[in-house]
Amino acid sequence: MFEQGYALWTSAKRLILNNRVREIDYYPNERDLTACGTAQKALHERAAAVTREQFGNKVFVRGVVEISNFCRQNCAYCGMRRDNRALERFRAGSEQIARLIVGHVPESVTDINIQTGEDPVAARELVLPLIQTLRRETKLGISVCLGTLSPELYAQLRDAGASIYIMKFECGDAAEFARLEAPGTLAERERHIHLLARSGWFISSGFIGGLPGQTLRHWLGNLELAASLPLHGCSVSPFIPGEDTPLREFPPASADWTVNCIAAMRLMRPAWVIPAVSALNLAAKEGYRSGLRAGANLVTINLTPDQLRGDYVIYKRDRFIMTEERVMEAMAAEGLAPSRQGLADFYNCGAAPVPA
Ligand code: SF4
Repeated sequence: MFEQGYALWTSAKRLILNNRVREIDYYPNERDLTACGTAQKALHERAAAVTREQFGNKVFVRGVVEISNFCRQNCAYCGMRRDNRALERFRAGSEQIARLIVGHVPESVTDINIQTGEDPVAARELVLPLIQTLRRETKLGISVCLGTLSPELYAQLRDAGASIYIMKFECGDAAEFARLEAPGTLAERERHIHLLARSGWFISSGFIGGLPGQTLRHWLGNLELAASLPLHGCSVSPFIPGEDTPLREFPPASADWTVNCIAAMRLMRPAWVIPAVSALNLAAKEGYRSGLRAGANLVTINLTPDQLRGDYVIYKRDRFIMTEERVMEAMAAEGLAPSRQGLADFYNCGAAPVPA
């Protein structure tokens, strides 16, 4: 009865979505998200074939720098939540980070993602000058993942030279979003995604699969919401219980469902840029490579200085850090090669459609 209701709800929602969504002939379904054995292999091969058709064997390579772990939010799934008093907080110097990047990024890196907790002070005082320096002294594409900020600050960041905003919605169910103390409200998050898109940003979003208490319905709901937003890319990360969070006792997400979800997302949106996230390697041995095999086409090399990285606990302290060597090994093992074209450049060329 419930499943029937859900099916009706999803078809009704599709009808009110835009034309582009209606044109697409693949809809994520329970069978694919739970596939295993030969059905799973076939799903991943189908997604890989679509990825190859769109992008060849090329994968975008970006570097990430995590420059502040202060956060005014309190997400139950995150070790950087404001109630975590055990965490030593840091803000890196923008000059320190600029020195690290300018002239020193690995040759394969075409873009830099600057990431912080939701820390408007860092966004204003560290990220803005860092972007200005990078824009002046490098050709790197610049993305930011800084949380929900004011429209004025978004505009300043864009004027400084960033062009991609990563605004994850994390959980596509409003009641769950509130239960998990995710930032603000889901409606507000969606509003900011639309605002950013209208003001010229390229947007990537993302969600966490397998949060405690969630069912297949939530996995499908996340994909439905992603499809309705004006995105150029989207990630799915497996839930990993962080030791300094209220969710520490819960089991991690199913790695199989997470990778199936990547494959479903690729089939649903062939032209999206879909990252392989490092947490896949905590969910399963060689999980990262499975993600690349199932349709992911963006890898991220962590460039955060060693002495700061330990306190950037997006899930748990014992993160799986993707160094250049690990990223290149995983790509080579899957027959993939770094894209010479950068991500920002790819978006600027209009290569990725915005479906909303
Ligand atoms: S997920 Fe982001 S916004 Fe939420 S507590 Fe962690 S750093 Fe802050």
